[in-house]
Order: sequence, then structure tokens, then C-alpha cells
Amino acid sequence: MRRTLSGPARHQASAQETLIVINRYPGSCGKCRRRVEAGAGQAVNTGGRWSSYHHECAPVRTAPPRGNHRGWHDLPVVGFDIEGTDRQPMDSRIVSAALVYADGTTSNWLIDPGVPIPPDSTAVHGITDEMVRSAGQPPRKALAELGTAISKVIADGTPLVVFCAHYDVTALHTELARHGLPPVEWDRAAIIDPSILHGEVEPRWYDSRQLGDLCRYYQVDLATAHDAESDARAAVDMAVSIAARHERIARTHPDALHQAQVGWYAQQKRNLQEFFDRQGRNETVSLEWPLETKRRR
Ligand SMILES: [Zn+2]
Repeated sequence: MRRTLSGPARHQASAQETLIVINRYPGSCGKCRRRVEAGAGQAVNTGGRWSSYHHECAPVRTAPPRGNHRGWHDLPVVGFDIEGTDRQPMDSRIVSAALVYADGTTSNWLIDPGVPIPPDSTAVHGITDEMVRSAGQPPRKALAELGTAISKVIADGTPLVVFCAHYDVTALHTELARHGLPPVEWDRAAIIDPSILHGEVEPRWYDSRQLGDLCRYYQVDLATAHDAESDARAAVDMAVSIAARHERIARTHPDALHQAQVGWYAQQKRNLQEFFDRQGRNETVSLEWPLETKRRR
């Protein structure tokens, strides 16, 4: 059962908004007063005033304070994450997956994908061929369990929190089809993707958007980066942290928030595509979320 929450409020730029860019001009450091060469530090705009800083002298950005408002962040959500063999979700075989439930229980899968795990992928998540051969489940059995568990979360009407959900959703969807297993009904899901929420509440963010860096900003513990269970738990904590700091996010019903994220994601990726085009990079960004149906170049 869900409480009724009001629709999204209009975004209003705050006067306290901080903008950080590479400094284009030399200047004296706002902290240590020594010279900052052009391009060697940061130009920080706080409340309309620009100051330059050495990187090590720049003020640490902190997220806006938590409010007392209510919202979906008071209700149970489930975290989901996978690790796979490939950065392209349609080519990725899942080697580990985790679901983290609101009551503190978790479900974990270690899967032997039946194909060698590329070394650069092992370098990211630490899962080796030896590990999956000795302790991994056969993919068809594990993926059937995972698909069933996610379908139950969706049928229960519980929001599913997934950081960069397009990867996990598209990879799982492709894996289920590859093994002839029934698809998850993604169009019935309420997915909350903290990477999209962050892009929406911090439209002028030029720093890293990696899970670990955003965890620091939102004061979320990340036990072990690229461990499926840790990442799933951090995604939940980050989504809750963003909602606690941004009332319009918290008060948007998860079903409406899912629909809003479809549009926010497409706009964020159009901006990224424009950046790639300006740089002359031959790279096509997908605008589809959460499920990619068209293969990227
Ligand atoms: Zn300095």
C-alpha cells in the first residue's frame, strides 16, 4: 500500500548554489593566497562571487542539509546491483548480483557465466574465473532465482533502487532472454536511480559521478566499491540521502518519480551527447531508461 504524495514541484535555483570549474585565469588562492596558475586549480562561484583555489585548498562541497519532510524515503525500498563481464550491458554476462531488503536481509548470487571473465572486468570487481568455477552457480538457475525475486519486489509495489539502472536492467533483461527465462515486467516497476536524481538536483556538477565520489558528497558509507551487496546498499542509502535533502524528490510518488526519471535521464544524456559531439568523439549515447532496446555504436 502506498501513501499519496504530491507531484513534482518546480526546481528553483538556490542563491547558495556553488559552481566549480577549472580556473581559466591565474589568480591568488582564496585560502593560502599563493598564486594559482591558469588551468592548474579551480574557480569556485559561491553566491555570485568567483574565487580561485589550488585543488588542495578548495572548500569541500557538502550536500544541502537534511530536512524534516516526509516522503518515500520513510518507506521500505529494495537495493539491486550486478557485476558483469562487459561495460556494454547487452554483451555483459552477470557474475554476481545482490538484492538488499529494507529489513536488513540480503540475497546474493555468484554465477559462473560459462565464458572467461575479461581481465579488465576482473580488475573492477575482483571476481575471477577460479572463483566462479569453484563457487558459482550455473547461470540459468541463478538468473531464474534473481528474475523471480525482482518480479516479486515489483509485484509488491516496492521501489527498486539501482545506481545507473540502465546497465543492471538491460544486462539482466538480456541475460534472461539469452537463457530462455521469463522476462521481468520492467514497465510495472518503480525504479529509483540515485545517479539520475543527483543529475536533477545538481544540474551544474562537473566533478566525478562515480558511486564512490557521490557517496562522499551525500555522506554515505561504501564498504567495498564494486561489490554487488555494498553497491546495492550504498545506492539505497544515497537515494534516501538525496530525498532527505530535496523535498520535491521525496514528495514525488515512486511511480511518478520513475516516469520523471525517464525524461530527466534523456535530457542528461542529450547534454552528454552534445559534449561528446563538441569534443569530436565518435560516441553515441543511449537515451533509453531503464531498459535499453537499441544497441549503441
Ligand atoms: Zn592555495
